Amino acid sequence: MLVFKFGGASVKDADNIVNLANVVKRFEGNQLVIVVSAMGKTTNALERLTKAYVDGDEQMHAIFDEIKKYHYDIIEQLFDKQDNIFNEVANTFVEIDWVIEDEPHDDYDFIYDQIVSIGELVSTRIVSAYLNKAGVKSQWVDVRGYVHTDNNYREGGVQWAKTRESISTGIPPLLNKGVVVTQGFLGGTSENFTTTLGREGSDYTASIFASCLGAESVTTWKDVPGVLNADPKLFNDTIKFDELSYSEAIEMTYYGATVIHPKTIKPLQNANIPLLVKPFGDPGAPGTVIKENGRNIFTKPVIIVKQNQVLVSLSAKDYSFISENHLSDIFGMFAQSHAKVNMMQTSALSFSVCIDYSENRFKKLLTALRQDFNVKYNEGLTLITVRHYSAEWLNDLKAGKTILMEQLSRNTIQMLVK
Ligand code: ASP
Ligand code: MG
Repeated sequence: MLVFKFGGASVKDADNIVNLANVVKRFEGNQLVIVVSAMGKTTNALERLTKAYVDGDEQMHAIFDEIKKYHYDIIEQLFDKQDNIFNEVANTFVEIDWVIEDEPHDDYDFIYDQIVSIGELVSTRIVSAYLNKAGVKSQWVDVRGYVHTDNNYREGGVQWAKTRESISTGIPPLLNKGVVVTQGFLGGTSENFTTTLGREGSDYTASIFASCLGAESVTTWKDVPGVLNADPKLFNDTIKFDELSYSEAIEMTYYGATVIHPKTIKPLQNANIPLLVKPFGDPGAPGTVIKENGRNIFTKPVIIVKQNQVLVSLSAKDYSFISENHLSDIFGMFAQSHAKVNMMQTSALSFSVCIDYSENRFKKLLTALRQDFNVKYNEGLTLITVRHYSAEWLNDLKAGKTILMEQLSRNTIQMLVK
């Protein structure tokens, strides 16, 4: 049995959904679980909707209307006016109406998950209905009854034993009746609330299903030829890797390579299931294979660019040295506010750390840190990580940049730039 994952770009318009059905048809005769993301940039739009709702911003209705129009335009191209999909989509969007007609709950992350999850619930309705229309027997499955998480909203922690039990007993009987279409990125709590697994988490969903079902492989269908050494939107002359080992792929995602979600590899590595990254526009192409003994051949360095970083520098209010006790307090505060640390450096009187910026979490963190420390920070920075670097490449990369913090190890260099 195979697991496929289609990301937002591969379902961003009617033509791409037709293409998805053609890709799936090539694999007729296989048992197939298809994990789908929200269409195009819908998750970003739903994030804006959530923020507008919580801020009491009247833009909220305009944002919501635009999201609905985008989806209706697509289904109008794919289905007859009488098709039941119009009701299914309307009934899915109504769940947002129910949330936003009340006063905002005070847990932002909780509200976020209840609203943002609609992107996947609606995209899968459309994909499943279209597959049936195109002659591929398909069943829509609500992932929230299979991927069980704790109630850590926006970063749901998967409860593996329960999830494994639900998937391994519930899904195989369905696979005999047709392909299973389900939502990436979502989970459900024991109280039946919706959680999300972290941005770009649909890859992780695919790997959870593969692991619980003992799949032959997972394929993530992308708008790039495979895993490249750098983002082709930022760099010219990128190269594709034919193979990578699990550990190289884990390193790359750890430093922020967005081609695969960081949590994806571990469950696959543990069950020795290969991950194929392939272009949805050319389904016969080999793409990249990530597997146990994947050969790592670097004719060019791997360059990973992470935007939206903030550099925080702390010093003790009483001029004392930054001690291990301070560090343990500081890390406690970072963990509590879910701040993701990407690089750090200590000196006698200060501790500097580069983290992902997220408005609400950063505000919480600053309030906590300011009780004991003097805090300075710089926002809007970019973290560049280069693996398997050469001196020549580094010089090119550094040219004309202001570097605020830099760290070098045998394989990896990281620099935080303005
Ligand atoms: N739709 C979600 C996101 O854009 C999950 C995913 O695409 O993997 O973050
Ligand atoms: Mg996406």
